[in-house]
Amino acid sequence: MKKQYDVIIVGCGVAGCFTALHLPEDKEILMIAKSELEESDSFLAQGGICVLKDEQDYDSFYEDTMRAGHYENKPESVDIMIRSSREVINELIAFGVDFNKKDGELAYTKEGAHSTHRILYHDDVTGREITSKLLARVKERNNITLMAHTTMIDIMCRDNCCDGIIVQTENGELHPVFAQNVMWACGGIGGVYENSTNFPQLTGDALALSLRHKIELEHVDYVQIHPTTLFSRKKERRFLISESVRGEGAHLYDKNGNRFVNELLPRDVVTKEIHKQMEKDGTEHVWLSFLPIEDIDVTVRFPNIYRKCLEEGYDITKEWIPVVPAQHYFMGGVQVDSNSHTSMEHLYAAGETSCNGVHGKNRLASNSLLESLVFAKKAALHMVNDETSKNADRFAENLDMSLQELALVYELTLDEYKSLESYHNKNKEMIRKEIYK
Ligand SMILES: Cc1cc2nc3c(=O)[nH]c(=O)nc-3n(C[C@H](O)[C@H](O)[C@H](O)COP(=O)(O)OP(=O)(O)OC[C@H]3O[C@@H](n4cnc5c(N)ncnc54)[C@H](O)[C@@H]3O)c2cc1C
Repeated sequence: MKKQYDVIIVGCGVAGCFTALHLPEDKEILMIAKSELEESDSFLAQGGICVLKDEQDYDSFYEDTMRAGHYENKPESVDIMIRSSREVINELIAFGVDFNKKDGELAYTKEGAHSTHRILYHDDVTGREITSKLLARVKERNNITLMAHTTMIDIMCRDNCCDGIIVQTENGELHPVFAQNVMWACGGIGGVYENSTNFPQLTGDALALSLRHKIELEHVDYVQIHPTTLFSRKKERRFLISESVRGEGAHLYDKNGNRFVNELLPRDVVTKEIHKQMEKDGTEHVWLSFLPIEDIDVTVRFPNIYRKCLEEGYDITKEWIPVVPAQHYFMGGVQVDSNSHTSMEHLYAAGETSCNGVHGKNRLASNSLLESLVFAKKAALHMVNDETSKNADRFAENLDMSLQELALVYELTLDEYKSLESYHNKNKEMIRKEIYK
């Protein structure tokens, strides 16, 4: 494996891909993913991606985002996200992303807590459409090396400066890899939960490394629970029933068939009401009905949900489906500034791993793909313009060292790597403790 790159990007979801695509093609880039390249939460996004529809929508988009976030959002970050949204959408379209259209114009949908239709979508598989196209563009670039089944297990840092990472490759070998800049685009933390809509391998590894290396974190207890995932007794990732289903008019019912909440309230409020109702009724789930949705063929608008529900024995065109809240999204994360730079030199973070303050205490539906893309791009542009990144001398003398020698330079805990299973379990436990502190 090569020892040195200009930039290492940990993660191949939207944040990782968009960073890579905004770096110049004369930069040598390594991108790694813990499992298959297509197994990121970015591929799972169903509902869509927000965009500033027109100038008149600015105040309302801003207010919806702030209200959902309980006004704990960082105003500067919200402004950057909204103002950059149209440009990012145009770039996606130029990269080949196909959004649904109505009468030849982009079609907009609405989700909970949005006061207008401002969400672009591709059926109910928006994330797959966006991420597969970005990944395809990444694969076309000769300057980018992609490695699946390759896990970052640690970083090499000293004097609050990141010089690279330690990876475990598919055959179990450990390798130090150096870079002028490292980007953490490692996604969320669903893997530390019993019930989550996330891929189980997304275990907040960047958070654990932040705790180990004293990198600033923010709002680690801000975890979003999605109100509606398909109820199941199987031990597997929970299947999400997108907010846009309620946006299009689906109703929630208690065990007696009564509505008990305004389905369009923000996620945290709907989740709380569902939990209350389940407790009151002594049930393991509530019901969601697609039947009140008018003027739309739900099998066409939500083909993925229709198919999955049928597989599980429910026909959404005829009957209600059981739904239950599950861990879904992480608003907190590695603290970053508006250029996605962490508190450690030459270390960036973007996407769900990071916390730039856009979401405050609660994320507005369909803001996360947009936020990931906007701030991944900002990181790439910052890396390019950062004069200190042009100097790789800071670790030149370490390039030929063995792992044992590097362990002394970077204070690596090699003993802990001997049993990586217990190392990872310890990391997960550290995160759980931090969340519930
Ligand atoms: C079911 C579902 C539906 C959603 N729907 C929407 C929606 O409609 N609209 C919206 O805006 N958002 C939605 N979201 C949220 C959104 O998809 C995510 O927040 C976003 O895609 C995160 O992108 P990311 O690039 O930060 O991380 P991810 O796409 O999760 O990518 C993480 C990457 O990091 C890699 N990685 C992690 N740790 C390591 C490590 N130690 N070493 C190497 N690689 C590592 C993983 O392998 C993966 O490649 C949804 C999420 C889910 C789960």
